[in-house]
Amino acid sequence: MTTARKLVIAIDGPAGSGKSTIAARLAKKLGYVNLESGAMYRALALKAMEQQVSLDDGEALRQLANSAQIELEPRGEGNRVLLDGCDVSQRIRDADVTAAASRASIHPQVREVMVKRQRALGLGGGVVMEGRDIGTAVFPNADVKIFLDAEESVRAERRIVQSGLRSAEDTQRVIAELAARDQRDRTRSASPLVAAPDAVHVDTTHKSIDDVVAEVEGLVRRVVSD
Ligand code: C5P
Repeated sequence: MTTARKLVIAIDGPAGSGKSTIAARLAKKLGYVNLESGAMYRALALKAMEQQVSLDDGEALRQLANSAQIELEPRGEGNRVLLDGCDVSQRIRDADVTAAASRASIHPQVREVMVKRQRALGLGGGVVMEGRDIGTAVFPNADVKIFLDAEESVRAERRIVQSGLRSAEDTQRVIAELAARDQRDRTRSASPLVAAPDAVHVDTTHKSIDDVVAEVEGLVRRVVSD
């Protein structure tokens, strides 16, 4: 499908709801770029860990964010992420960075810097951006807003399969970490994870990736033909 106008498509939702996969597939179908906003928070968190900056110090994190060069290079199945010129695409997916990103992202000072950069990336349209606050804070005027969700046990199961973990202990840890991250994202005061009032809710619990992509593509088609 091609679109005459280059749209901005916002996909938000909790961890494991399918955002990254759906955003990447949709972007490919549309010939758009897919941008993972969460990767920016992850890269910042990694820098904070490396430089021993406290994840509770919003002001220090703001300065770090201002000085950090974070680049997202859209690829077929996700983004290549460069932090100050180094490829950190793999490292930022590790459990310690995942937990740190969730803590760093609660600070309004950090969000201010990130949202500004994310807006700049989507300026020309032709983007599918996924995250937690894309439809509410980054692009409140996005052409299409989708809120993906799934039952917590299914989201946790997806993470477990992705990480290849097998032991019961690891499984319990993943479930606990996912729940803690969700809780933090949903209850923080700055841009909490919440669906925009005009977002279309898609529950992916019992749906295949192809089904969800088709559904979302249908929503885009409707906007294009309006
Ligand atoms: O999407 P991903 O799991 O990579 O995001 C990592 C963390 O970054 C999330 O747990 C969330 O706390 C934060 N995040 C955010 N706002 C976004 C994207 C991610 O606060 N738009």
